[in-house]
Formats: sequence, C-alpha cells, structure tokens
Amino acid sequence: MAHLSPDRLLGERVAAVDVSGIRRVFQLGATMDDPINLSIGQPDFPVPEPLKAAAVEAITADRNGYTLTSGDGDLLQAAKASVAQDVGWTFDDDTELLITSGTSGALQLACMALMSAGDEIIVPDPYFVIYPNLSTMFGGTTVLCDTAPDFRFTAERVEPLITDNTRIVLANSPGNPTGVVMSQHEANDLYDLCTAKGVLLISDEIYDLFTFDNGLQDGRFPSPARRGDEMLMIRGLGKNWGCTGWRLGYAAGPSWLIREMAKFQQYTFVCAPAPLQAACVGAFDLDMSPMVELYQSRRDRVIAALGDVTEVADAQGAFYAWAKVPEALDCTGTEFAERAAERNVLVIPGGVFSARDTHFRLSFATKDAKLDEGLAILRDLLQGN
Ligand code: PMP
Repeated sequence: MAHLSPDRLLGERVAAVDVSGIRRVFQLGATMDDPINLSIGQPDFPVPEPLKAAAVEAITADRNGYTLTSGDGDLLQAAKASVAQDVGWTFDDDTELLITSGTSGALQLACMALMSAGDEIIVPDPYFVIYPNLSTMFGGTTVLCDTAPDFRFTAERVEPLITDNTRIVLANSPGNPTGVVMSQHEANDLYDLCTAKGVLLISDEIYDLFTFDNGLQDGRFPSPARRGDEMLMIRGLGKNWGCTGWRLGYAAGPSWLIREMAKFQQYTFVCAPAPLQAACVGAFDLDMSPMVELYQSRRDRVIAALGDVTEVADAQGAFYAWAKVPEALDCTGTEFAERAAERNVLVIPGGVFSARDTHFRLSFATKDAKLDEGLAILRDLLQGN
C-alpha cells in the first residue's frame, strides 16, 4: 500500500487551516455519555410542517434536477420580495440576488470573486470560525479587528485598519459568537465608511430573524442595507427556519458582483439543492415569532443565571452567549471548557473564535430543562467551585 504520500500531494493551504479547537470539543462530546450540549450552533426546533410538506411534494413532483445557476425562479422572486420589503432595495439592472448553497456558499463565492494574493479582508474578532479561513482558502490576508470589550464592530474600529489593499469589510449581526446586534446608527456609519473608501461591505445577516427586543429598532432588525445597496448582503434560510442541513442561503448586491459569483457557482456548487429551494418559497411568509420569543426567554435565563457571576456580552440576537472566564479562575477559555466537560457540559472555548482565549460560547438552542441544568453547573464553575 502507501503509494501515495500526503507530504508530496497535499497543497500548502491545508496546513494553514486549523480545526483543532472545534475538533477537540467534538472529541470530548463523543466520549461523554449524555452530555448537556451547549455547543450546538443550530436551532433545536424542527423545520415548520408546511416546508417539510413542500419538500416532499417537490421531490414527488420530480423537481430533482438542476435549477438555474442563480436559483429556482420562484425562490428568487420570494427572496427578492423579502429583501425589497425589508430593506427597500429594488432589483433592477444594477442590483441582483443569487441563491447559494448555504450562507457559507455565498461567503465563499464572494471571496472567490473578490480576493487575490495581497488583498486584505477585515473581520471582527471574535469571529464566526470560517471568516479567518476565507483568505486562506481563496487568497489574501485576514486582518482582525479587535472588538473587545463590548464586541461592537464599529466604523471607528474598522477605519484605522483600512489600507490600499483592503477589498472586504465583513460584518456579522446578530453576531456569532457574541449575540451582539449592530445599531442602525453603527450600521449606517460602517456603510458610509466602506463606500467612501471604495471597499466592499459584506453583511452576514444569517440570524436576522433572531433579533430580540433590545436589538430591534423601530421594530426592525438594523442593517447597513437600509442605508443603500452598494454592499453585499448575505442571508440564510438554515437558522431562521431550522433547516441548516438543507444548505440554503442568498446573496444580494451589485449585479457586476453577483454575475461573477454566479460564474463561480456554475463551476463549484452548480446550484443549491433543487427540491429544497422549491420547498422554501413559502418560508418568508411563515410567522416564526413564537420561536424568536422562546429564544429571547432563553437568553433571559442565561443572563439571569450567569450575569452576576461573570461578564456576559449584551446578547441581542442569534442564540449564543459569550461569557468571560473570570480572572480569579486563572484559566483559559479552553481550560474552562475542559472543566465544564468534566462536569458533563459542552461549551466552546473562546480561542476557537478569537485570537484571545478568555471567554467561552454557550448556545441556548437547547430545551429549557437541559439549559437550566447546564447553567447551574456553569454558574458553579464560574464561582470557582
Ligand atoms: N455565518 C454565520 C455567522 C454563522 O454562524 C453560520 C453558521 N453557524 C454561517 C454563516 C454558515 O451558515 P450556513 O449553514 O448557511 O452555511
């Protein structure tokens, strides 16, 4: 055997992508009997019945072939109508929308189209895990914008990092792992900064529906897209409708960019899963507010349980809490996550999402009873017990 040598065959970029932090949590989880799993980054509610029924119907009706590269016509219309109604964009010759294989697919296609060696992409720290790896996979360099201590990705913090090489400023609100939501004022400032400097603002809004009362402004989710359409807005279907495995998202922005992204989609993903695109045409009309209220109440449970024993970021959306490991414990986020695992609770160490390993992320996309059980143990640990 062993005719093939990984040393000779594997490309340079494999060494630059590190999955060890996340793998460690999964490995820990695999060794545990019935862990209280507060590490999961997806909703714990099932896909709404009408969408399930529509998926079955689409498969039965033989809608199983390729769709157009840009997406199923009905879903394209529905997504455009949703964006138009929400942020007021009009889809004409200058602005387009592309259905993608998940939000990740949209981020990848955007970076394929925009990034070359020497280019820079500014991302917040803490970040969603794939952000720093986008440049590793598609070219260029990641520039981290430290958002501590309030985890707000503001124009003031971004501006000094912009150079002649900056191509992309990547924002994420509601934020993973912090749950922080941009104010409309902050969103406008970031939009104005990026357009003035001629760099592309990408706004990853995958958790847009999961914005809680204290994150909404005038009852709406704040977005830089309300300021104008010279940016790339990326939204997803997976989190909002509990169908992460259906791999659906969309990107909306300047036609010249969407065209190039579609070109790369043609040579990579080809199209997002056809019957599932058909299934989601009605998704935008579903009322998910009971779920959002449930998640907001869980956020309140987390703050009530941990807020007086450590600093927890002001979670206004998504389904994560970003909690500090108190200095008195004299341990890193990784060590804290290991201590939690010894007590049967899985959380993700902050070092997975940040150059600093001072926090941990817990997901409250978990049934109330399990969540309470986990919170009691975490509270105990945070108090040094
Ligand atoms: N962006 C953020 C901020 C996320 O948290 C996630 C998923 N955890 C994604 C993008 C990727 O989502 P998708 O499953 O749609 O690719």
